[in-house]
Amino acid sequence: MKFLRFLGTAAAVFLVCGCASEAPASRTFFAMDTVMTVTAYGGEDSLPLCEKRITELENLLSAQKPDSDAARLNISDGTEMSLSDDTAALLGEVLDFCRETDGIYDPTVYPLVREWGFIDGDYKVPDSAKIAELLEKTGFEKIALSGNTASVPADFELDFGACAKGYAADELKKILAENGVTSALLDLGGNILTVGGKSDGSPWKIGVADPFSPSESVGTLLLSDCAAVTSGGYERYFIAENGERCCHIIDPRTGCPTDSGIASVTVVGQSGTRCDMLSTALFIMGTEKAADFWRGAGDFDMLIITEDGKMLITEGLTDNFTPAEKYAEAEVIRK
Ligand code: ADP
Ligand code: MG
Repeated sequence: MKFLRFLGTAAAVFLVCGCASEAPASRTFFAMDTVMTVTAYGGEDSLPLCEKRITELENLLSAQKPDSDAARLNISDGTEMSLSDDTAALLGEVLDFCRETDGIYDPTVYPLVREWGFIDGDYKVPDSAKIAELLEKTGFEKIALSGNTASVPADFELDFGACAKGYAADELKKILAENGVTSALLDLGGNILTVGGKSDGSPWKIGVADPFSPSESVGTLLLSDCAAVTSGGYERYFIAENGERCCHIIDPRTGCPTDSGIASVTVVGQSGTRCDMLSTALFIMGTEKAADFWRGAGDFDMLIITEDGKMLITEGLTDNFTPAEKYAEAEVIRK
C-alpha cells in the first residue's frame, strides 16, 4: 500500500510547490493499489477521462483482477491467449527490457512475490526448497508474444506491478495532449510524469523522499516534460525473525528480496514505462552495476541513496537537483 505523495506520509517523490499564477484543476482517486492525483492547468474536462483510462488499464493489467489479461495469462495453462492492444504493447516493451537487463527485470517472479507474502500480507520467509521449486517456474524467456497473441507456460505467472503505473502515466499524457493540456503533473502513487512546466513555464519542483525518513526530502528536482520514478525497499517490506529486512522487489537470481545496498533509486527520463522498469531493475543491480548500466544506456539519469546513507547522482542531474543540507556531499557519477 502506498500513500499520497504530496502529504509526505510515505512519499517517494512528491510535489514541493504547485504555486503559479492560475489555480490548476486536480483529481485524486485510488487505483492500482495506490493513491493517484492528476493536476492540470486548463484541462478540467480531461480529468474524468484520465481516471476512466486508469481504471481500464487496471482491469487489463492487474494480476489480481480475475478477468484481466494478466490473470487470464496466469491461468491459461500454456495455451495461447489473445491480448488487448495495451497489454500486448506493454508486454512487448517488458520483454525487450528483460533482455536488456539480462533478466534482472523479470515479471515472472510473481509466484515468489506471492510466496514471500507481498500479495496477501501474510509475510513469511520460505524455506530454500520452496524458493528453488518456485525459481524453476520463472524465466521471461518462456513467455511467447507474437502480435497480440501470447502464451505463458503452465505453472508460470507474471505481473505488471513494476511497470503498469509508468505505462498508465504515458497513456494519460496522450489523453492530456489530445485535450490540449500543455501543463500538468501526474502523480500515480509516486510515479511522477510532468507535461510541460507549470502554467508560468517554470519547471515543476518535485521532492525526493528520504528512504530513512520518508516524510522528509533528500532534495528537490526541477522537472519539465519528463518522468521521475522511485523504487525503494522502505515502503513495502517486513522484518524477518532474524532481523533482516525483506522488501517486495525480488532478485530473480536468488528468488529472495533484493539486498543490493541501495535504499532507494529515482530515475528521470522521457518514458514513464521505461523509468518505472528501470527503477526496479537498478534497485536490484546495486550501485556499481547501475552506474555501468547508466553509462551504456544513455537515455536517463538517476539519484541513488545507499543503505549506508550516501547520495550519488548522475552528471545529467547536477543542474536540476538541489540536495538537502545533509546530502550536500553527493557523489557525481560520470560517463
Ligand atoms: P512499486 O510498484 O512499489 O512502486 P516497483 O515499481 O519497483 O515498486 O515494483 C514492485 C513490484 O514489481 C512488486 O510488487 C512485484 O509485483 C514486481 N516485481 C518484483 N520483483 C520484480 C522483478 N525482479 N522484475 C519485475 N517485477 C518485479
Ligand atoms: Mg518499477
